[in-house]
Amino acid sequence: MTALNLPALDRSALDWDAAFSPQARRLSSSAIREILKITQSQDMISFAGGLPAPELFPLREVREAANTVLDRYGPAALQYSSTEGHLPLREWLSARAGIDAANVQIMTGSQQTLDLVGKLLIGEGDAVLVEAPTYLGALQSFNPYGPKYVQMAADDEGIDVDALEGLLERQRAKLLYAVPNFQNPTGRTLSLERRRRLLELTARHGVIVLEDDPYGALRFSGEALPSLYELSLKMFGGPEHSHVIYSGSFSKVLVPGLRDAWVQAASPLIGKLVQAKQGADLHTPTFNQMIVAELVETVMPAQIERVRAVYGERARHMMAQMDAHFPAGVTHTSPQGGMFLWVTLPQGLDTAALLKRAVERGVAFVPGAPFFALGGGHNTLRLSFSSATLEQIERGIAALGQSIREALA
Ligand code: PMP
Repeated sequence: MTALNLPALDRSALDWDAAFSPQARRLSSSAIREILKITQSQDMISFAGGLPAPELFPLREVREAANTVLDRYGPAALQYSSTEGHLPLREWLSARAGIDAANVQIMTGSQQTLDLVGKLLIGEGDAVLVEAPTYLGALQSFNPYGPKYVQMAADDEGIDVDALEGLLERQRAKLLYAVPNFQNPTGRTLSLERRRRLLELTARHGVIVLEDDPYGALRFSGEALPSLYELSLKMFGGPEHSHVIYSGSFSKVLVPGLRDAWVQAASPLIGKLVQAKQGADLHTPTFNQMIVAELVETVMPAQIERVRAVYGERARHMMAQMDAHFPAGVTHTSPQGGMFLWVTLPQGLDTAALLKRAVERGVAFVPGAPFFALGGGHNTLRLSFSSATLEQIERGIAALGQSIREALA
């Protein structure tokens, strides 16, 4: 081999920290990921992660669909494909929503939607309205674009629209980000009346709404509500007049690992999103989209029923155990669907410190503070009920109750 005559490299020369762009410097790793590392030990009961229950995944059906897709499409199933997405899947989604396929874009997980919509709409210093608390992953996606967060007050019915009205009179905002159904992290749902008011207010003030709805189909009690997007179609006269960007996902209603999701929005937004997605990943994996298209009619409805029934049972069990084991002064939300609930401890208690005690007793949760864009929430925590068995819920909630009593003593 000929020796390359390269100058000796000074290994200490490259200062990566100095090399990172201003956007990269605003990235931080998720507080949850760090906690998940502690909870990976075998006998830890973890209510921390937000994982769908793996024992419910339709393995056999996915395997069969993969074979069907390969037989039907041959090499095309493994070829590059259009940025907009697999047409049969877009058509299925658009028919269901009563809109045109031109208003539907397939995405690589709704996490990609948060990133790319952030890229398209958030300029340095733009005011972005977020719930307090809000989905941590959205903050991670938006942060590099330099938003100025404004927190919206909320109660058991979700965003407080009276307070929002006052807020919008005092200040301009570009974007409102909300998870109206079974919110991550609180499990709360925005009431119908508030949905209408929120749409009127944001339309009047020219604020674009990003509706993140990965859990909407997972309702286990109460009445189904129309999405903000559906309501906006009726209130404002069709998809081209809606100021709502709807973000849907197959992660929680089918499987998360295929990374298939979609956006419904007015065509100018979709057009720009196509350009952003070309630069990000060209398209969502062809094969995965074809598999999902194969399953939406045949497997997804029954899958949703199973998931709803199991999560409902787990949520009710967790709430009953909390009511039995948690001391007075500790409150929790009562979600009607989704995967999470939210616990508030007496003021002054710090759930980051509580986590250490709880982990010693073999149970983990996520402290609430990281879910607040502007700080606060040190006495709150998030529990996930989706992937624990009833027996684990019993032992885990009893242990958490003990840890809370100890911390209060
Ligand atoms: N939005 C919310 C509110 C979520 O909870 C999640 C997943 N934890 C996502 C978006 C991202 O989901 P996915 O990328 O799997 O569609």
